[in-house]
Amino acid sequence: MRKFLTWRKTISGKLTSIYLLMFIIVLLLLNTAVYLGLNYFLKNNARNSLDKTMNFLSTRLLQYNYYDTDLMEEISRSEGNIYFRVLSTNRNIRFQSNLLEDVEIPVTQGYQELKIGDRSFIYTTRFILDRGIFIGYIQLVREMTSEYSFLRSLLLVITVTSLLGAFAAIITAHTITRKTLRPIISIMDTAKEISGSDISRRLEISGPEDELTELTRTFNSMLDRLEKAFQGQRQFVSDASHELRTPISVIQGYANLLDRWGKEEVAVRDEAIEAIKKEAANMKTLVESLLFLARGDGNKISINKSQFYLDELIEEVVQETLLITDKLKVSTTGLEKMLINADRELIKQMLRIFIDNGIKYTPAGGELRIGLAREDNWALLTMEDTGIGIPEEALPHIFERFYRVDKSRSEKKGAGLGLAIARWIIEKHHGQVEIFSSPGHGTRVLVRLPFAGFQQ
Ligand code: ADP
Repeated sequence: MRKFLTWRKTISGKLTSIYLLMFIIVLLLLNTAVYLGLNYFLKNNARNSLDKTMNFLSTRLLQYNYYDTDLMEEISRSEGNIYFRVLSTNRNIRFQSNLLEDVEIPVTQGYQELKIGDRSFIYTTRFILDRGIFIGYIQLVREMTSEYSFLRSLLLVITVTSLLGAFAAIITAHTITRKTLRPIISIMDTAKEISGSDISRRLEISGPEDELTELTRTFNSMLDRLEKAFQGQRQFVSDASHELRTPISVIQGYANLLDRWGKEEVAVRDEAIEAIKKEAANMKTLVESLLFLARGDGNKISINKSQFYLDELIEEVVQETLLITDKLKVSTTGLEKMLINADRELIKQMLRIFIDNGIKYTPAGGELRIGLAREDNWALLTMEDTGIGIPEEALPHIFERFYRVDKSRSEKKGAGLGLAIARWIIEKHHGQVEIFSSPGHGTRVLVRLPFAGFQQ
């Protein structure tokens, strides 16, 4: 019983039930219509034949003599299944067919049912009028035994075939729905087998092109995306661990050096402390970048937008940069006044990343030019350096996490996370970023951010 109840809750159970219900309703309607139609037709036929005989008799009885038993017997014989009884005005039987002897037939209007033994009849009663004067009754009785037995057999046949039909419908509906839904069951089984450590399983796409093959394909492409995301996640963790190992090893190395020689030799001690501080700072930057990206992936970074002038922010960042480095000529020529609606802190972080890169990858004496102009509905920010540039084959990858063009070429090593963070910030502000570069000549970064007033 419980199995039946759970089956009813399954899709195939529901489909089978609906199919069955509709089949039974159609069958019932059809069979009832056939049965009632035939029932009506047969009874109507019998009444018509009673009426016809009655009309014939009424005129003939008066024309000749209503005691004309011969005529009645002849009609009974010729019709085969019609019997009669003639009554006087006080309802005494004048004469009747042999079959009706000892049978009570009430004088009532319309057509009535009558049973003699196990035979069925219908009868009707009429007045006999002679020139308008009531002279007695005539009752005509018609046998219906064969019609009723036919109707009973019909009912039996209909019931049996309906039950067989319903049974066949259950089996067919169940088989068809199970067969149709087999891909869903296979999806379920595969989904159960898939675990975090093995996401490489895929469903087989077979059968005709329909919603279920589409579902299978969608499921497989979802698995492709999940697998890619998993791999990305794994790669991220492995790259992050790898990046953290270097500063930790350096710190460990200098700590050992301090332990062995640093107690006596001041120069060694100072060098070690300096190196440890530098590596710890590197590590801090790296961990902060990792944390930023991890929180960004989990949508945990809140973006607090406000309206501010981008040109003023650029000037601010440039001034701060010039305090730390004077290796390049940094110019902000012709910055247009530009109001934007954005998270000031995040935009500042993005500016720092591009400006730091410009400085990192441009040899001393080079130049970094920053511009800001309006382009349609965008604030267009340009940062152009005269640095070492980026090879063409590296350009499609520079926004990837941990990607570095050449790990040995930069004096100040980065972990390859800066551009990934910058792109995340730009995308969260519905902006765009493009980088053009000519190796040996310099790099040009274009950032487009929406104007204030055009972005909700
Ligand atoms: P990193 O922390 O290594 O600078 P980024 O994500 O900021 O990481 O940059 C990725 C790589 O793109 C860098 O390693 C560098 O090789 C290259 N790159 C970025 N900006 C510049 C630039 N202005 N000039 C030359 N190369 C650049």
